[in-house]
Amino acid sequence: MAKHLTAEQLSAQAAAHGAHNYHPLPVVISQAEGSWVTDVEGRRYLDLLAAYSAVNFGHRHPRLVAAAQRQLERVTLVSRAFDHDQFGPFCAELAALAGLDMVLPMNTGAEGVETAIKTARKWGYEVKGVPEDEAVIIVFDGNFHGRTITIVSFSTDPDARGSYGPYTPGFRILPYGDADALAAAMDDRVVGVLVEPIQGEAGVVVPPPGFLRRLRELCTEYGALMIADEIQSGLGRTGTTFACEHEEVVPDMYILGKALGGGIVPISAVVSSSEVLGVFKPGQHGSTFGGNPLACAVAREVIAMLNTGEFQERSAKLGAHLHDRLNAMPASVVREVRGRGLWAGVEFTELGGREVSERLMAAGVLAKDTHGTTIRLAPPLVISQDDLDWALDQFESVTR
Ligand SMILES: *Cc1c(COP(=O)(O)O)cnc(C)c1O
Repeated sequence: MAKHLTAEQLSAQAAAHGAHNYHPLPVVISQAEGSWVTDVEGRRYLDLLAAYSAVNFGHRHPRLVAAAQRQLERVTLVSRAFDHDQFGPFCAELAALAGLDMVLPMNTGAEGVETAIKTARKWGYEVKGVPEDEAVIIVFDGNFHGRTITIVSFSTDPDARGSYGPYTPGFRILPYGDADALAAAMDDRVVGVLVEPIQGEAGVVVPPPGFLRRLRELCTEYGALMIADEIQSGLGRTGTTFACEHEEVVPDMYILGKALGGGIVPISAVVSSSEVLGVFKPGQHGSTFGGNPLACAVAREVIAMLNTGEFQERSAKLGAHLHDRLNAMPASVVREVRGRGLWAGVEFTELGGREVSERLMAAGVLAKDTHGTTIRLAPPLVISQDDLDWALDQFESVTR
């Protein structure tokens, strides 16, 4: 047994040997269950970040832990050189959940986005007939789609993008939520429009009503693929399975990740049609761990849980309560509350997001600032109303 280190020693070790690409709150977690985490000193905190929505079903949900344990006893990795008995069912069940018919699994969200970009370009050249190397993908101001070189090439956040050039060309950046700008930017070289139905990292920004519907229509009109990055907004977070449902829109491609792995394993996927994903032939794309048996088994349990509708309903019902309480906070403290379901971006008039998250931590609640004066609240969808109310009491008292 390693000797027991204090929280301070563990933090110092992390800072000495872990690269400083994050600025974590000074808490060192050693256990978690449901909506609660416990630090190495035995203090409990209510988790209102839920790992950026990767823990939508709470920490260590018994159904998900059981699915993982069953699979650990059978087979965990075979590579895609062979089929395994979780792969076909996973693809079929995820496609059915999305109302589409083909799935390409990867591991992280960024890989899912890269896969969607590759798909759209290949489809653009081979099906739509765009001249070689001239494909354009439209993206939006304030986007967050991951951290690879290609993805940060079209980021508008200087921290995310700076010093990583030379950048990947082929992207057109438009104002988020501006349907007229989109209409003006569409042409026959546009192969796809990549959109977050709600922008999470930007501070839970909801586009104006009708934007997604108009985007869908424009994609259809110009023969471009509507690509919805639902890595954070999807899988129950907004009160529906997909955030696109709020505008009754079905994209040509969903990109999923985060909660798809139940907070246990990384798994992402592009979900689309066989006409679109059919552009891939053997050897043209892949991943050693993508679609592995352990990840597929956990994701199948996630899909089965979503098929009950219980989590979407909780998110809608508790989310309405969350937004009611946040909207009742004084205008002198809160400038704006945005979001849907159990997902809120709270923008303060003066308080800094970091300062609020530090005060919340001292009060036993974990949350994370996004940009400057905004804090994001995304509790696990399993949270009880009592716990949610208690957390909101703390939130009100530390911002008073
Ligand atoms: C988190 C996120 C990603 C990237 O996922 P990773 O697993 O961190 O690579 C992409 N898009 C959106 C909308 C996200 O929230």
